[in-house]
Amino acid sequence: AGGQKVKHNYQSDVARLRKIVINSLYSHQEIFIRELVSNANDALEKLRLTALTDKGVWNGEPLNITIKAVKDEDGKGGRIIITDTGIGMSPEELTTNLGTLAKSGTSDFLAKAEGQGQDGTGNGNLIGAFGLGFYSSFLVADRVTVASIPPKSAKVPEPAQHVFSSSADDAAFEIFPDPRGNILGRGTEITLFLKSDALEYLETDKIKELIHKHSSFSSSFPVYLFTQRTEEVPDEDDVEEPSISTSTADADTTETPADSESTKVDEDEAIVEDVTEESEKKEPPPPKMKSVVVDEWVQLNAQPPIWTRDSKNISDEEYTSFYNAFFKDFTKPLAWHHFSGDSGDGVSFKAILYLPGQITEEYWQQPLASKSKDIKLMVKRTFITSDLGDHGLPKWASWVKVVVDADDLPLNVSRETLQSNRFLKQLKGIIIKRMIQLFTKIYEEDPEKFREVEGIYGSIFKLGAVEDLKNRDKLAAFTRFTTTQRNETSLDMYLENKKKGQKQIFYLAEMGKKPEELAQSIFVEKLHARGYEVLLLTEPLDEILFGNIRQWKNVPFQDVAKAGLKFGDEEQDLEDEKQEQKRMAEKFKPLLDWLKTEAKDAVRDVVISNRLVKSPCAIVAETGGYTANVQKMMAASNA
Ligand code: ADP
Ligand code: MG
Repeated sequence: AGGQKVKHNYQSDVARLRKIVINSLYSHQEIFIRELVSNANDALEKLRLTALTDKGVWNGEPLNITIKAVKDEDGKGGRIIITDTGIGMSPEELTTNLGTLAKSGTSDFLAKAEGQGQDGTGNGNLIGAFGLGFYSSFLVADRVTVASIPPKSAKVPEPAQHVFSSSADDAAFEIFPDPRGNILGRGTEITLFLKSDALEYLETDKIKELIHKHSSFSSSFPVYLFTQRTEEVPDEDDVEEPSISTSTADADTTETPADSESTKVDEDEAIVEDVTEESEKKEPPPPKMKSVVVDEWVQLNAQPPIWTRDSKNISDEEYTSFYNAFFKDFTKPLAWHHFSGDSGDGVSFKAILYLPGQITEEYWQQPLASKSKDIKLMVKRTFITSDLGDHGLPKWASWVKVVVDADDLPLNVSRETLQSNRFLKQLKGIIIKRMIQLFTKIYEEDPEKFREVEGIYGSIFKLGAVEDLKNRDKLAAFTRFTTTQRNETSLDMYLENKKKGQKQIFYLAEMGKKPEELAQSIFVEKLHARGYEVLLLTEPLDEILFGNIRQWKNVPFQDVAKAGLKFGDEEQDLEDEKQEQKRMAEKFKPLLDWLKTEAKDAVRDVVISNRLVKSPCAIVAETGGYTANVQKMMAASNA
């Protein structure tokens, strides 16, 4: 394009999103830094992964993120510059990645945010639940420029640095070759020209605070912050200055930590000591001092990754903010389990397993064959993949979020070697086992909490008990049902409450109804009247579950809407009832005969029943036949 500026109009969704971001998420300004650092981290990870197959893109130069705040000379404004040495973007990528909405989650956000109104009051939780991405820049900036250059590759042998530039109130953005040339070498530099109400972010202490709050865990690469401090040093020409310090106030020309050694604070201290010694020895007049500005790149995330630390020293807040940043889920996790282990053939690992605080609608809409996306496999602290392919968790467990860091896997894993790796083959089993242990621990130690867990994971337990034969009993034990007698019963509790002689677990299933409605059913009447508890099943999964497991602790399930229903106390009054029924059958023979001929196309038989108390008649399914409920489901799935 030869230096020409190309103007593009935003996709209409982007324009909408920007408007919402700018207008209604005002009180959440500070998240911009979390989003931009997370993008920089993604870009670095992409570069490293690309380098596994395309060696030329990375020769081992430092991979890092730098943040620098620059105040305008007049003190009236300033800018924040966030730079990474990652994968960078071509001009086409700048256009599509920053000018269109690639993320599906963002559209959800749009719908919800607009639904809640744009007064800025209703969106407090939304901002937490969604990553807003690049557009959060406009929370603090009225102009944003993104300079970027991808690495040299076979496809792009001569990349050229380009700039994306956009103002908060423009409906368009511009892409043009960077007049400064290819100064980045590789990567992306984002410059935020701060709005007048966002100037607090120019203070390095503020930036430090935000990185610690939102991002200290989200980057596996070093994040450096440019800081300047004034230092008093003796005004002697021969005093050696620390190698990292320059006495210039021109922040724009400071080397990045990639060019120089990172800060060594003790070097500064060494100078101070020297000075003291000398003054004691000779007792000359105190040396003349002068102020110099010392520039430093301070690493903000120097702590080792959380999963490598001792869980005793990690607070709940730390576990939560790690979860938020690392999995980009800004809701509170329900529980977690931090463990280490050994695969048995030499691979030792550390892991943290999280139960998310919600199972989304989206999860249920995904096909049964879909595999987990949130098992983040690291090797020696380096992210490798979250796609375990055939070794991913099955649907019922695929919502779990886990970071696993293995010691001894080959770092240079290709998909093929991954698939044949023994550790990975075992990983699925290890995770499911630990997950069930975590549920069991809560179940046994904290009934109050388990109630919350069951509220969120109830359907998961049912799906798991259907899908996972090995863990069926454990998962089915966690399930809860409403009954004719109480709001919540486990299958074990049901059996404890069994009447003497009762040989079946009674249930009535009708999906989409309320338990109260089922309780009114004629099928339930007689059992209830006799003091039997009946499970009232309203979820489609319930009936599938019972059909699959068939019995609990050797007591078979009995659908009370099916023939073959036996009460446990029948033996005592069986004789009476038999006599009574015989008498009735004789008495009503003309009616039965008439009904049989009249309804012969609709029913197989008409009999006198002892199952009804108040209702005059009922239509029941044959033993072994489908209930109305299952027939409905089958009809629906055939449609
Ligand atoms: P998300 O990160 O969820 O994809 P964002 O709005 O944060 O959404 O970013 C949009 C896209 O822009 C990213 O997917 C990526 O392709 C690109 N991008 C953003 N920041 C960078 C960066 N620092 N380096 C390279 N690409 C980037
Ligand atoms: Mg992002």
